[in-house]
Amino acid sequence: MNERLAVGGASGMGWAQFLETARKTPGLDGGAAIKDSALREKLADWYVQAEGLKHTRNRTMTALSRGQTPGPESSIGKIVSAVQMQDLASNAIEMLDQFGIINDPDLAPMHAGFQGSFMFAPGLRIAGGTDEILKNIIAERVLGLPGDIRVDKDVAFKDMPTGR
Ligand SMILES: Cc1cc2nc3c(=O)[nH]c(=O)nc-3n(C[C@H](O)[C@H](O)[C@H](O)COP(=O)(O)OP(=O)(O)OC[C@H]3O[C@@H](n4cnc5c(N)ncnc54)[C@H](O)[C@@H]3O)c2cc1C
Repeated sequence: MNERLAVGGASGMGWAQFLETARKTPGLDGGAAIKDSALREKLADWYVQAEGLKHTRNRTMTALSRGQTPGPESSIGKIVSAVQMQDLASNAIEMLDQFGIINDPDLAPMHAGFQGSFMFAPGLRIAGGTDEILKNIIAERVLGLPGDIRVDKDVAFKDMPTGR
């Protein structure tokens, strides 16, 4: 959980950097990319997610300040921020057109921050617990849904059946 809290905060480039870049980048119709309604819809989604994450993090900080251990809801931060990082970075790279493929801080907009996020995001979706594991945790321990089928429950690793 400690690692999830730490890596969940590694959000890279956020909606504000995307908005700033979209205002300066030419769009398909000759105006700025920010005029594109599909991009604006995406930006609204990322903003809402970022606000949700902020309040989830505040709950965690409140628990810590009271000497409590943060609960399994901290898994939400990691899964939402990693998926958002990948979505936001891939949209930014597409928006930047030929500049999107230049992974050079001296040449690419925002010092190639979007390119860095694009390369890092797939690993972030694995490190500290994969998306699937986090979904299991949220489903079972936050939402109280029935547990996943576990054929290895209470079985020592050395006694696990294998394909051999
Ligand atoms: C960038 C990066 C940095 C890392 N840094 C460290 C580090 O510093 N220290 C360290 O110890 N480790 C580190 N790791 C390893 C990381 O913790 C593991 O890769 C991660 O926990 C996933 O475990 P795994 O690779 O064994 O995948 P597996 O557990 O083998 O999972 C393989 C696939 O099966 C799915 N899966 C597995 N179990 C279930 C289930 N019950 N239900 C549904 N789907 C399931 C997974 O979601 C995944 O898609 C790092 C990994 C990355 C990518």
